[in-house]
Amino acid sequence: MANTLYPESYYAASANAVPARPALQDDVETDVCVIGAGYTGLSSALFLLESGFRVTVLEAAKVGFGASGRNGGQIVNSYSRDIDVIERTVGPKQAQLLGHMAFEGSRIIRERVAKYNIQCDLKDGGVFAALSAKQMDHLESQKRLWERFGHTQLELLDQRRIREVVACDQYVGGMLDMSGGHIHPLNLALGEAAAVESLGGAIYEQSPAVRIERGANPVVHTPQGKVRAKFIIVAGNAYLGNLVSELAAKSMPCGTQVITTEPLGDELAKSLLPQDYCVEDCNYLLDYYRLTGDKRLIFGGGVVYGARDPANIEAIIRPKMLKAFPQLKDVKIDYAWTGNFLLTLSRLPQVGRLGDNIYYSQGCSGHGVTYTHLAGKVLAEALRGQAERFDAFADLPHYPFPGGQLLRTPFAALGAWYYGLRDKYGF
Ligand SMILES: Cc1cc2nc3c(=O)[nH]c(=O)nc-3n(C[C@H](O)[C@H](O)[C@H](O)COP(=O)(O)OP(=O)(O)OC[C@H]3O[C@@H](n4cnc5c(N)ncnc54)[C@H](O)[C@@H]3O)c2cc1C
Repeated sequence: MANTLYPESYYAASANAVPARPALQDDVETDVCVIGAGYTGLSSALFLLESGFRVTVLEAAKVGFGASGRNGGQIVNSYSRDIDVIERTVGPKQAQLLGHMAFEGSRIIRERVAKYNIQCDLKDGGVFAALSAKQMDHLESQKRLWERFGHTQLELLDQRRIREVVACDQYVGGMLDMSGGHIHPLNLALGEAAAVESLGGAIYEQSPAVRIERGANPVVHTPQGKVRAKFIIVAGNAYLGNLVSELAAKSMPCGTQVITTEPLGDELAKSLLPQDYCVEDCNYLLDYYRLTGDKRLIFGGGVVYGARDPANIEAIIRPKMLKAFPQLKDVKIDYAWTGNFLLTLSRLPQVGRLGDNIYYSQGCSGHGVTYTHLAGKVLAEALRGQAERFDAFADLPHYPFPGGQLLRTPFAALGAWYYGLRDKYGF
């Protein structure tokens, strides 16, 4: 069987050492079979193990092979569509529940890092940077909105203050969230996997789930083995393919690209981001960046609808980086890679059950580092029979992309083109 390796990213090159994990070659029995060892799967596994369930995780490639091991590493609170949209769509009661959970994922990450002593370069502080007065107005109303749900650690930054935290003269202001921050995402996933194993959970790599036998006693088949479980959690997100046909119709994998500079040295790094906060701008097609532990700049942006891999990533992302930081014009790019996230039409996550015993969470549409950690907790609560918070997510309405799988890519690209024009011309 082919051995699927990590992409050649900065994260793979600087990953903490981990043991080789076997492929599944037997029939095993467990309480919960988790499909996918990204944050959704690992967070679910950890919460379930802590509650006394037996857990077996199947990973098609390697722990953190998907978005969880490739992302920008930005701990961004709330959801890709905000609580006011949720409130308008589903009413105040559900918005209350989801609004109060909107910052929980970042707390879960910090608890995990502390409890399991995970070495992942965790830093506090994330900045949303406004490129126009209209975006600044939006940040002001977003702060009021988040405060309504109890999230009060936010600080608006005027033009003078934002210059103190990021040496980029494009911004008119911003908002600092000290419960945001950044991590080495692959090392977080690897640390969580080690925590799963320390609690007796089993993780099989190079073990794709190729078929699910549904029913009262479901069975998950891999090429060389099978897992009999009481429950299944499907956590394959943008890499799931068509394993579960119901999940493919209402979501679309999209690629986004990241580059990493050579080490900048302390002085240059500090001149760009003196407090070492991470930054994302407020555009629909947003740019995001931060420093690594060894003082490189990681810069991400751009979306490829339908998740084709672009041929020359550096040619797409480097100009964006130089627009923000022209002072980096002579700096070399050491790594460039792409990864897939899963978009839904509403940009809200898709959560639910198939029958009584197959659970899923997917499609957080871009911002997923915190949400996926929360999702693991909420899924574990549901399996324990406490489904109120799970149902608040599961009741969010979702619609198929117009045109089905054939036309969803051009449709979404058209939508993004429109939003790109809005970002550019401010209408
Ligand atoms: C380049 C990039 C940058 C991003 N930057 C940020 C950021 O800075 N901040 C932020 O909040 N979010 C960011 N995101 C989004 C975030 O990374 C994702 O939302 C999140 O990691 C999704 O986690 P997941 O566990 O649901 O999916 P994934 O991490 O993709 O994990 C799914 C796993 O399931 C496995 N799998 C799939 N099918 C099967 C199968 N049949 N059998 C077994 N295993 C299977 C895959 O191999 C994969 O390892 C970014 C995403 C990308 C791609």
